[in-house]
Amino acid sequence: MFDRRKFKDSFIRNLKIEFGKTLEKSNKHEKYYAVSKAIMEQIIEDWSETEETYKKGKQAYYLSAEFLMGRALGNNLLNLGIHKEIEESLKDLDIDINLMEEIEEDAGLGNGGLGRLAACFLDSCATMNLPVTGHGLRYRYGIFKQKFIDGFQVEEGDQWLKHGDPWSIRRVEDTVMIEFADGKVRAVPYDTPIIGYETKNINTLRLWEAEALEDFDFHLFNEQQYDEAVKAKNRAEDISRVLYPNDSKKAGKILRLKQQYFFVSASLQDMIRKYKKRAGEDLEAFPKYHAVQLNDTHPVVAIPELMRLLIKEGVNWEKAWRITQETFAYTNHTIMAEALEKWDVQLYKELLPKVYEIIVKIHQQFLGELKEKKCAEETIKEMQIISEDRIHMAWLAIYGSHTINGVAELHTEILKNQELKDWYKLYPNKFQNKTNGITFRRWIALCNKELTQLITELVGTDEWISDSNKIKELEKHIEDEAILKRFLEIKTLKKSQLAAYILEKEDVRINPDSIFDIQIKRLHEYKRQLLNAFYIVDLYYRLKENPSLDILPRTYIFGAKAAPGYVRAKAIIKYINEIAKLVNNDQDVNDKIKVVFVTNYNVSYGEKLFPAADVSQQISTAGKEASGTGNMKFMLNGTPTLGTYDGANVEIVQEAGEENNFIFGARVEELEAIKDSYNPKKYYERVPGLKRAVDTLINGTFDDGGTGMFQELFSALLEGTDWHHPDHYFLLRDFQEYREAQQRIDIAYQDRISWAKKCWMNLANAGKFSSDRTIKQYAEEIWKTEAKQIKS
Ligand SMILES: *Cc1c(COP(=O)(O)O)cnc(C)c1O
Repeated sequence: MFDRRKFKDSFIRNLKIEFGKTLEKSNKHEKYYAVSKAIMEQIIEDWSETEETYKKGKQAYYLSAEFLMGRALGNNLLNLGIHKEIEESLKDLDIDINLMEEIEEDAGLGNGGLGRLAACFLDSCATMNLPVTGHGLRYRYGIFKQKFIDGFQVEEGDQWLKHGDPWSIRRVEDTVMIEFADGKVRAVPYDTPIIGYETKNINTLRLWEAEALEDFDFHLFNEQQYDEAVKAKNRAEDISRVLYPNDSKKAGKILRLKQQYFFVSASLQDMIRKYKKRAGEDLEAFPKYHAVQLNDTHPVVAIPELMRLLIKEGVNWEKAWRITQETFAYTNHTIMAEALEKWDVQLYKELLPKVYEIIVKIHQQFLGELKEKKCAEETIKEMQIISEDRIHMAWLAIYGSHTINGVAELHTEILKNQELKDWYKLYPNKFQNKTNGITFRRWIALCNKELTQLITELVGTDEWISDSNKIKELEKHIEDEAILKRFLEIKTLKKSQLAAYILEKEDVRINPDSIFDIQIKRLHEYKRQLLNAFYIVDLYYRLKENPSLDILPRTYIFGAKAAPGYVRAKAIIKYINEIAKLVNNDQDVNDKIKVVFVTNYNVSYGEKLFPAADVSQQISTAGKEASGTGNMKFMLNGTPTLGTYDGANVEIVQEAGEENNFIFGARVEELEAIKDSYNPKKYYERVPGLKRAVDTLINGTFDDGGTGMFQELFSALLEGTDWHHPDHYFLLRDFQEYREAQQRIDIAYQDRISWAKKCWMNLANAGKFSSDRTIKQYAEEIWKTEAKQIKS
C-alpha cells in the first residue's frame, strides 16, 4: 500500500540532503529531483530482490548502442500504479505534478526507431517479469537539441544531466578495466531501474561511463602544466561523451569504434565475473545462463571479444567458439547498404590488435567451412568476413550467432530472398522474424489517458494494457454511433491540447478543426518527407488557381532531426520551412492549409503528437523501411495510415483492413523490376502539376540562403549522382498515386462516422503491435528464458 506520509517525509528529506533546502526555498528542478529520489527510495528493495531472483537462472542481455528512453517520472508512476496518490500528495504541498513531469529532460540516448525499440523492449521485459538487462553507453550528451534559424537546422549539445540524474545509481564496485592499444580506461556502470507495469519486478538498464585510471597527473600538475595534467582524463572521458547522431554515414571513426568496444567489453567482463562467482571456473555452461541479443551491428565486436575473454580464461578455441555461437543472436535493422557497418582492418589493428587477431582466425575458420561445403568461388568472395581490407560486421554477426532476425515480415523475407540470400541458403534454420512492437504503457496509457479510459470502460477492465489482444473487443462497438462520437470528441480534445502546445513552443497557431496530417520520424531521403512537401506545393498552386477547390482544411505537421553531416536531409528541412513560410503567410490559402515543422522532435514531443493525429504518414520507398514503429504508435491512437507497402505497414493493413487505411505506390517487386531502366523525367514531364512543384527547387520560388542545396536536391532527382540513379527513392514514380490517396482521405474524412469507424478498426486491431508480443517471441524462440516473479 502506498504510504502518503512516508512519501512526503522522504521527499522533504531528499530536498534537505541533496540541496540543503526546505520546501519553501527549493526551486522546481530541486523538487523534481527530490520527488524522483523519494520514488527510488520506495522501490529499492524490490529492485534488489529482483536481481537476486534473476541470478539463479538464465538471463538475457540486450546490447544496444542506443536507448531512447524519454522521460521517466510519469511512466514510472503509471507503472507503479501510484500516479494519483503522488499527484494528491504533491498537491497537499502545493506542487503541480504536471509541472514536475514537464520539466524532466528526455533521456535521449538514441537517434530514432532503433533506440526507441530498445526502450520499449525493456518496458515489456520488466512488465512480463523476464530476466533481461539492457546494456549500453551512458553518453554525457544525447541526441542534439534542434533549433531552426532562418529555416535551417541548428544543433546544440544536449545537456540532459545538467540538473542531475535521480534515476540512476553509480555502481563503482562493478567497475571493469577496458584495454585499448593506446591505454586503459575504467568502465563504471550506472544502473537505472526499469519498472514493470503492475508487477513488483524491477529490471535494470546498465549504462557504462568511461573514466580515466587517474583523475590527473600529480607531477605535471605540480609543475603547473594544468592542461597536460588532465589530458588523459579528458581522453578517457571522450569515449562516453557524445552519442553520434550520424546514422546515415560512417563518421568519427576511431572514437566510435572505441565506444562500441568499450561498452561491449565491459558488459561481457561483467557477465563472466558474475558467472564465475556463482558457478565457478568452468565456463562451459555460460550459454545456459546467458543469452545476448546484439541490436544491429554496433555491438557485434562482442563476438570476437567473448572469444578473447574465454581464451584468456583458458578455454580452448573450439569450445570457446561453441560457447560464443550459443550465446549470441543478432537483429538486423536495415538493408540500406551504407548503414551496414564495415570497419577498416587498419583501424582494428591499431586500436584492438588482440581482437583483430581473433577476427582473422574466425574469418579463416569460416573460409574453411565454405570450402568444405563446396561453395562457389564467387559466393565465397561475397560472404567472407574480411575482404578488401575491411571487416564486414553483419557477416561476422551471422556467422557468430545462432539466430538472425528481421524486424517485420516483409523485411525478413527481403533478407532471406535478396540481401542475405546466400546466408539463408547456408543457414536456413538461423533465420527468424520478430515483427517490432511498441509498449502500450507509454504509447497510449501514459500519453492518451482519455482514450485509455474509454477503452477500459468498454472492455470492462484495464487488463488490455498488458494483455494487448483484449482491445480486439472494441470491434463489437463498431456500429455504436454514440461511442464513435466519444472517440471523435477525444480526438478533438487531443488536437486542442497539441494546438495549445504548438502555439506555446513554436508560436504558430493551428486550427484544431482542421485535419492533422502528421509525418514525424528522422529525416532521411528514403522516408520521403520530400514527397509530402511536393504534394503540399502542388496543392498550394491548385488552391491559388482555384480558390473554390473543394478540400477540407488541413494542417501538415512535420517533426524530424537530420544527422548534422547529412546535407541533403538538412536541405529538405529548409525546403519544408520555406514552404511553411509561403503557405502560412498567404491569406488566400491560409484557412485551408497550414504547415508546421515542430522543433526538436523527441519522445516527449511524440507523446503529444501521436494521440492528436488524423493521418499517419508512412510513405517510405517500398522495401526500405525495415519495420517502422511510429506507424504503430499512430495506429494505437486510432489513426489511419497513409502509406506504402513497406515494413510493418503491410502487417498493419493486414490486421486493420486495407479499406481502413490509404495505401498507394509501387511495391517492392515493381521497383525491383524497373530500377535499372527508371526514368523520373517521364513522370516529371507528364504528371500534371508535378513539374510545377519540383521546379520550385530551382526557379527562385524559395530561397536556400545561397547554399545551392535546393539545386543539389533537384539534380539528385533528375540527373542522379555518381553513386545513385536519378530519383533513387522513386518520389516521382509515386507522386500521382500519393496525390490520389490524399484525395481519398479528403473524401473519406467528410463522413465523420464512417471516418471514426476507420480509426476504430485501427485501434481495435493494434493488439499485435504490442512489444509484449514481440518480447514474448524473443524470449521463447531465441533466448529460451522464462518469467520469474519476485515473492514479496
Ligand atoms: C517511434 C519513434 C521513432 C521511430 O519512428 P519511425 O516513424 O518508425 O521511423 C523515432 N523517434 C522517436 C522520438 C520515436 O518516438
